[in-house]
Amino acid sequence: MTENNKLYDVCIIGAGYSGLVLAIKLARAGLLVCLAELNRIVGRRILSTGNGRCNFTNRRMDAKYYYSNSKVDFIDDNFQEILDFIKDLGVVERELDGYYYPITNQAKTVREALENEVNALGVDIFLDNRVTDLSKVGESFTVTTTRQEIHCKKAVVASGGLSAATLGSSKIGYKIAQKFDLKLTRLAPSLVGATSKDICLKDLAGVRALGTVDYKGNVCEGEIQFNKDGVSGYPVMCISRFIGFDELNKSVGNIVVDFCSYISEDDLKAELNNRFTKHPKATIHQSLVGLCNEKIIEVVVSYARIYGDTIVDKLDDEDIENIVYYLKHFSIALSGTKGFDASQVTAGGVDLSDINMDSLEARNCPGLYFTGEVLDVDGICGGYNLSWAYTSADRVYKHITKEV
Ligand SMILES: Cc1cc2nc3c(=O)[nH]c(=O)nc-3n(C[C@H](O)[C@H](O)[C@H](O)COP(=O)(O)OP(=O)(O)OC[C@H]3O[C@@H](n4cnc5c(N)ncnc54)[C@H](O)[C@@H]3O)c2cc1C
Repeated sequence: MTENNKLYDVCIIGAGYSGLVLAIKLARAGLLVCLAELNRIVGRRILSTGNGRCNFTNRRMDAKYYYSNSKVDFIDDNFQEILDFIKDLGVVERELDGYYYPITNQAKTVREALENEVNALGVDIFLDNRVTDLSKVGESFTVTTTRQEIHCKKAVVASGGLSAATLGSSKIGYKIAQKFDLKLTRLAPSLVGATSKDICLKDLAGVRALGTVDYKGNVCEGEIQFNKDGVSGYPVMCISRFIGFDELNKSVGNIVVDFCSYISEDDLKAELNNRFTKHPKATIHQSLVGLCNEKIIEVVVSYARIYGDTIVDKLDDEDIENIVYYLKHFSIALSGTKGFDASQVTAGGVDLSDINMDSLEARNCPGLYFTGEVLDVDGICGGYNLSWAYTSADRVYKHITKEV
């Protein structure tokens, strides 16, 4: 282990998105900053974001897109500020229905732009340095890594959550929090597919269909993907944190899928009656064509206990009600989630009640800050988690620069 004799104004633990944003802001303000990172490159996780395209923010920015055990109504509409920061790094943006990506459509553009800027600003970057401990010595801190000891006036934990371990993750942020007597909330994987052994998946595997997913009153709409061992896609990802926490309590329930969310129950019933009256000699399958994916129709008809070749003038009101019911309330038993490794974000983290919300500084330890995913804040799909990584870094930056 080598001794680093510099006394940094700030040492940031973790050179992910949040740590990099913070390092840039602090170094631009003239502070002596360093980053300690376990990977051999900075911002490794950024490369995998947005399916390799990096959805870094969203025009619809509001606290309602975030979850926490504490109130997070301090998250406001700062999307223009995020956009300006990214533009200032030289990254031209591209908007798709309010979702922002780099124009190159390559996440590596964002990672490289951040890396170029920290290098240009002279930030000391210690790669391949896994942080193993943080201690406070008098008014300053010592960050211990696998290679050296780093001394700093202020320490910022930006080490992320437990998701996608292969991209670089560790429990160090939570360990540091516990060492400094800060509470942790329970952790669960979020933005992840759900697992299921439900028999219907034998027939639905491979289907992608628009619909609404309801898990115990948490409702989300979008394209649902059915696989042989589970269900995923945007709406499932968005409600997956609730499944994740239920998995901890062994209380995972069913999702109820509305395959025809574009039409009300009464209107759907009227639509079926209309179709059946117009073509009374059609089979039930012929009659339902176009309402939703044909595999879904097959499954729904079989759940309604009707043979696919039944002529529709043979159906009675109860049959029609059953078809409508299964199209609008199709229940799939879940067993859990695909776990932290398959998840995009970790729900839960360092309890905000022990953190000063304005500065993100530990209430009981001046000079110790937390930023990004390590905190108990998680967003839905759509650029909200990278936005939180930015927003939280910006809070820490504003507080530190006000103080020095
Ligand atoms: C596949 C995937 C796709 C995603 N897509 C999107 C998207 O399109 N939009 C969006 O908003 N969000 C997306 N996310 C979520 C987003 O990437 C994270 O929420 C965000 O990166 C969190 O930023 P962070 O800086 O807090 O943590 P991270 O980016 O995880 O950075 C933490 C850093 O700390 C380092 N570290 C950890 N432990 C140690 C240690 N002991 N010592 C030293 N360093 C350590 C890690 O190696 C890492 O570099 C995605 C996530 C995944 C996995």
